[in-house]
Amino acid sequence: MTASIRCFIGLGSNLNNPTEQVVRALDELATLDKCQFIQASSLYASAPVGPQDQPDFINAVAEIETELPPHLLLDKLQAIEQKHQRVRERHWGPRTLDLDLLLYGDQEINTERLIVPHPFMHERSFVLYPLSEISPDVEIPQDKQLSSLLVECPMGSLTKI
Ligand code: ATP
Ligand code: CA
Ligand code: CA
Repeated sequence: MTASIRCFIGLGSNLNNPTEQVVRALDELATLDKCQFIQASSLYASAPVGPQDQPDFINAVAEIETELPPHLLLDKLQAIEQKHQRVRERHWGPRTLDLDLLLYGDQEINTERLIVPHPFMHERSFVLYPLSEISPDVEIPQDKQLSSLLVECPMGSLTKI
């Protein structure tokens, strides 16, 4: 039997009823094969990163346990994005659904398709605050405690909804 790995996934949407997109994606994560849904944070609203001429985002973080190897999990996450008719236009532009693999156990992964821990999670309030809501003591490989990252990352426009 393959060991289960604890993972955290960041969800974001700012198109076509973002709240519904995120809620549906949480359901879809919960039904993934070889994955067990553990918990999800509240939903949060945040101003966009990058181009400002786009709607605000709805974000959340989910915790799952999985027997899938990391690249296979990324395939499943990208398949869910596709189901939400995600179209990749400009970088950091608006999207119906974005699923980022934030943490895969305590593993560090650095391949062309997948970098874990997610390279920008340390500086994003819409990742750190929902993550700390569900798992305040989680360890981030090669990094400080989540609590000290939070001290350096103001909530900014982030609001729990
Ligand atoms: P950011 O990565 O800054 O949040 P983004 O989410 O808008 O930006 P995408 O267009 O969704 O970026 O993804 C670009 C590529 O990033 C994907 O095709 C994927 O292969 C790669 N990628 C690398 N690391 C990860 C990760 N940890 N989670 C999800 N995708 C990743
Ligand atoms: Ca992202
Ligand atoms: Ca992404």
